Amino acid sequence: MKKIITIVGARPQFVKAATLSRQFKLLGVEELIIHTGQHFDANMSEVFFEEMEIPKPAYQLDINGLTHGAMTGRMLEGIEEILINEKPDAVLVFGDTNSTLAGALAAAKLHIPLVHVEAGLRSFNMQMPEEINRILTDRISNVLFCPTDTAVKNLQREGFDNLPVKIIKNGDVMQDAAIFYAAKAEEKSTVLKTIDLPLFILATIHRQENTDSPENLRNIIAGLNEINRQTPVVVPIHPRTRHILAQQHIVPEFKLIDPVGYFDMIMLLKSCEMVITDSGGVQKEAFFFGKHCITLREQTEWVELVDNGFNILVGSDPAKLKSAFEVLSTKHSDFSMDLYGKGSASAQAVSEIINYLNTNN
Ligand code: UDP
Repeated sequence: MKKIITIVGARPQFVKAATLSRQFKLLGVEELIIHTGQHFDANMSEVFFEEMEIPKPAYQLDINGLTHGAMTGRMLEGIEEILINEKPDAVLVFGDTNSTLAGALAAAKLHIPLVHVEAGLRSFNMQMPEEINRILTDRISNVLFCPTDTAVKNLQREGFDNLPVKIIKNGDVMQDAAIFYAAKAEEKSTVLKTIDLPLFILATIHRQENTDSPENLRNIIAGLNEINRQTPVVVPIHPRTRHILAQQHIVPEFKLIDPVGYFDMIMLLKSCEMVITDSGGVQKEAFFFGKHCITLREQTEWVELVDNGFNILVGSDPAKLKSAFEVLSTKHSDFSMDLYGKGSASAQAVSEIINYLNTNN
């Protein structure tokens, strides 16, 4: 039986890992999960394992709250030790966090086949830690699962056609999660009762370029305060953002709630009027649930959303935010376009991983 080690650490990775883990179980592949501990609050981590029935991590590294270098370095050391002992047939990493890069480096140096899910995405902004993590991880991966045609083209432009790697466009595993868990969310979530608002805008803010710049954060909050006077804004607030708001004495006038679990998030996405976010995943989820999105960034990796008019990029400019809000408030779009696959990305990925290991090991 093949043995895969999956490395996760941050909230978006739990959502992505959930869909692959289900497929591993269905196909009888042994999967061991390493949780680096990058996100550790119960509502940023445990709730996802419980709701999405992700197998309990075999290893918990508990590495968090450090600078990028210290965090990545300690993760690399911890993961390497586990890989040496466990000798997996492949290592699986997701997305673009420090956990992704640490896992990728550990596997590649030990010559263990490395699989990257959500490969090929680029913002072309090298100031973003995520951009550095994803470029480096892609370059040392053996199997690259790309969610979109743009992601495949990005890799081709970087010369990946000349490398001995396998590039597969399989669609987006977050689309799989949204489809699979939507009915369970309807059944289990109580968040709509709790917030008790007939109409609302859902917003999230956590990207470093916004939270680490007091000016950007102040501008975004001012823009959201203004929108809130028209339609209530609800923000499940990331712990880091909450901390910085208090530190900088920035006062939101809209509703802040603690981070919610995935089921609650699905219900908020399904029921809101519009989404405003700097999250990567939430931009796509807005589309999955038929909502327009305003993105609080200057670039996005999910360019097809912008190209097709579902998403407007406004950076941290409150005037642009307001005018995008006016435009999208009256816009009617057909969200039935197939941009991210139809919910079979994780099944395809797992069968391709098995094929790869059968032919290359
Ligand atoms: N999410 C959630 N609860 C929240 C905020 C986000 O369940 O309070 C989910 C969201 O629906 C998505 C994932 O977390 O599936 C995205 O994580 P995040 O925005 O932290 O990271 P990014 O996608 O920007 O890397």
